Amino acid sequence: MVHPRTVFLMYHELELPGRPLCQSEPGYVRYILLAHDFLAQMERLKLANWRGVSVTSALRFQDTHSVALTFDDGCETDLLTAAPILHKLRFGATFYVTAGFLGRRGYMSPAQLRELSNLGFEIGCHSMTHAYLSDLDDAGLYREVVEAKLQLEQTVGKPVEHFSCPGGRYSRRVVEIVRDAGYRSMATSLANGNSPSTDSFELGRIPVMRETTLHAFEQLYRGQALWKVSLQNAARDSAKRLLGNSFYDRVRSLILHRRKSANTSSTSH
Ligand SMILES: [Zn+2]
Repeated sequence: MVHPRTVFLMYHELELPGRPLCQSEPGYVRYILLAHDFLAQMERLKLANWRGVSVTSALRFQDTHSVALTFDDGCETDLLTAAPILHKLRFGATFYVTAGFLGRRGYMSPAQLRELSNLGFEIGCHSMTHAYLSDLDDAGLYREVVEAKLQLEQTVGKPVEHFSCPGGRYSRRVVEIVRDAGYRSMATSLANGNSPSTDSFELGRIPVMRETTLHAFEQLYRGQALWKVSLQNAARDSAKRLLGNSFYDRVRSLILHRRKSANTSSTSH
């Protein structure tokens, strides 16, 4: 029998009325959900008798009606917005934190991170400085993967056992160092569900985007129509390969800016 795949969803900062976001580039904002859209998604899960769980819990693959909820970057809304919603619905989640961002404007302080951990949520690592790991030498990787882990463990007083790659960028060498550092898993941005036969150092994750409708969300957490996400990712990855990481980001930012201004001028709302 083929084991059903468990979907790992990827979230970022949430947008609250009147609260400035950590970053404002279009490439960032397309990953940011309005807080009430996030709430609607979590209520939809609950209503369907599904459960949001942490990475540790999802990796046991015991429950076919569970979805892993993960958050990248360590924004303050992890604690202020996501945590109360998840707590009320009795959902678990894993928050992958960029260690070097703690205390910056819009991100959690070390005390807030401790609070999030003490509420029972799992804390994972999302590197030290959010560098693209595939671009780094071993010394750089050591800092981003090993030192970031130690710093987060010191802050929360618990082992930090799961890692997620900034921008989804990784290489064979990244996998080796993450494994050697003592992590139990590494999440990528490959648009796959995961099963007991998935390599836990190459876990798939599905981004929930600002424009994801409730209907599309329902398909995503059930692992349906993931090929659509794969197709978008494939187009993005081939552009990255042709252009290189930093050049790709500049080009993407230009294109998104242009699309945004074209939208503004062609619509009247
Ligand atoms: Zn990130």
